[in-house]
Amino acid sequence: MKIPFKKGWSIADSTELYGVNDWGVGYFSVSEDGKVIVTPNIDGKTIELPLLNVVSDIKDRGMDVPVLIRFEDLLEEQIGRLNNAFTTAIKASNYQGQYRGVFPIKVNQQCHVIEEIAEVGAKYGHGLEAGSKPELIIALAHLESQDACIVCNGYKDAEFIDLGLQACKMGYKCFFVIETPSELPIIIERSRKLGIKPMIGVRVKLASMVGGHWNATSGDRSIFGLSIAQLIEMVDTLKAEGMLDCLKLLHYHLGSQIPNIRDIRSGVLEACHVYNELVKEGAAMGYLDLGGGLAVDYDGSKSNYIHSKNYTLDEYCTDIVDVIISTLDPQGVEHPTIITESGRATIAYSSVLVFNVLDVAKFEPASPVDEVQEDEHELIHNLKESLDSVSLRNIQECYNDTVYYRDEIRELFKRGQISLRSRSLAENLFLQTMHRLVALADDAPRTMHEIEKLKEQLSDIYYCNFSLFQSLPDIWAIDQIFPISPIHRLNEFPDRNAMIADITCDCDGKIDRFSNMHETRKTLPLHDLKANEEYYIGVFLVGAYQETLGDLHNLFGDTNVVSVRVQKDGSYDFSDEIEGDSIADVLTYVEYQPQNLRERFRKIAERSVRQGFITGAERQSIMKTFSDSMMGYTYYEKD
Ligand SMILES: *Cc1c(COP(=O)(O)O)cnc(C)c1O
Repeated sequence: MKIPFKKGWSIADSTELYGVNDWGVGYFSVSEDGKVIVTPNIDGKTIELPLLNVVSDIKDRGMDVPVLIRFEDLLEEQIGRLNNAFTTAIKASNYQGQYRGVFPIKVNQQCHVIEEIAEVGAKYGHGLEAGSKPELIIALAHLESQDACIVCNGYKDAEFIDLGLQACKMGYKCFFVIETPSELPIIIERSRKLGIKPMIGVRVKLASMVGGHWNATSGDRSIFGLSIAQLIEMVDTLKAEGMLDCLKLLHYHLGSQIPNIRDIRSGVLEACHVYNELVKEGAAMGYLDLGGGLAVDYDGSKSNYIHSKNYTLDEYCTDIVDVIISTLDPQGVEHPTIITESGRATIAYSSVLVFNVLDVAKFEPASPVDEVQEDEHELIHNLKESLDSVSLRNIQECYNDTVYYRDEIRELFKRGQISLRSRSLAENLFLQTMHRLVALADDAPRTMHEIEKLKEQLSDIYYCNFSLFQSLPDIWAIDQIFPISPIHRLNEFPDRNAMIADITCDCDGKIDRFSNMHETRKTLPLHDLKANEEYYIGVFLVGAYQETLGDLHNLFGDTNVVSVRVQKDGSYDFSDEIEGDSIADVLTYVEYQPQNLRERFRKIAERSVRQGFITGAERQSIMKTFSDSMMGYTYYEKD
């Protein structure tokens, strides 16, 4: 749907519309020529890198969109921001302990990401959190810094525990966090057997509940963690075994993306009281692990809305440090090392998904009707009269009449009483009237509910080259909102009201929830396509959770992934390129053998030769097309 032109539209208006400076937290902005720029800080200097240039350089090298671009510098900077914010808060409050972050591997397990985190994190002693045996194996192979912690959550069998115990012996700070009472006897048994003292942590269920999407991890019914009664039993067991000196860490995790700082404070407060009590019971302690939950402001509203957060990183750190000090000091308890398991907030910023628009469906009359023939059905004449009578004063009446006549015509058609051509005429007239009503309504003193709905119903569908299920699964699964913006042309007025559809042709494969500062809306203003020019859209802050939850809906595979490393002079190179799945790749995931498929198809082609449909030479070229397709990208490729 066309949006009436707004005079004096500027880049500042686009920046506000797409919220770039709000959710970009200094990592993204808009350049003076209307392009989204990435703005990493390299050795104290802010670089301005147009995303469009990166895309065009990727294409020059023969890779295509859709592409997931990882900005290593943003990941590095974010790890720095997190550690520095805690260090600053610790210094300012004269806190006696340290901060040791751990990155939960499940949030993004990609090898290149973990390598980067281990490398960059080394100078801060930033560690890893493992929730399974494979993740522990990743952690052990990557962490070199002896300062860094490995926190093992999740169910642990004897093998998992043996591996962790050996790691302790080698000097790793590897904690087993007890999630259920049944784990403790295995840990005690294995450590006796191997003669290695374990570093034990315990996850407690706090009574504190949090708001937001993931609050099932808090409260009495949360799946993991010990209740307070179970905690006491565990302390007694360890006491009886003479192993209370092994209990070193208290852990809780209230859920991801906690939008309200009050919930964060109340969680720490409750945990600190538990911590005090464990010290009094005689446990060694020394570590307080607050889990994840540090949120990302996806809509840039700085509010306690579920896709936002009402606190800054500095406030998060300061509040945590303050609550610990004020709860532990009166009891004379030593300040512990603070651990957080921030996943989302660490990695979200660094990845951007970029895709192109393939086509647009506009809900506009295919050909506007000027005149209706004398002999047309009376209802069609009624529709035309309605169209001609549209005015500010009769918006509601016109709307009601037009919908009524259109529905009557559809009924007649169903009964075979009206021709396909007449019906087409009616549909055109209907759309013509609706567009006229919407255009007028902008000047009306008050807007009707129906007209607001109409704006959605008449909005364009932009068909885009990606699969929601593969690349943005949380949009489909949990109504997650990500910032979405064209990555160029922000110096032009976006005059189309649109929603976004992917190429899976699944009715769920669409994006029709967009955020801006004040509301969630169903459509997003976009620019009209230009002939012979690609239009690129970016989905931002997608580094967390999206990559491994994605599935092979319609057999669209992994997209191309390119990692970018920026230099101080603003130049950059592609430090890593992972080609997306080929068609053969995705077929093997569902157990087809490419060789076998080729052979089956060869037989069918051979039969066609025998039947005289194709020649032998044609068979050869058909087989070549078949084999070449198999090696191609699963997404739409333009030549
Ligand atoms: C998922 C998870 C995290 C990560 O949470 P974020 O909100 O992404 O930081 C941390 N700890 C545990 C135990 C988790 O399960």
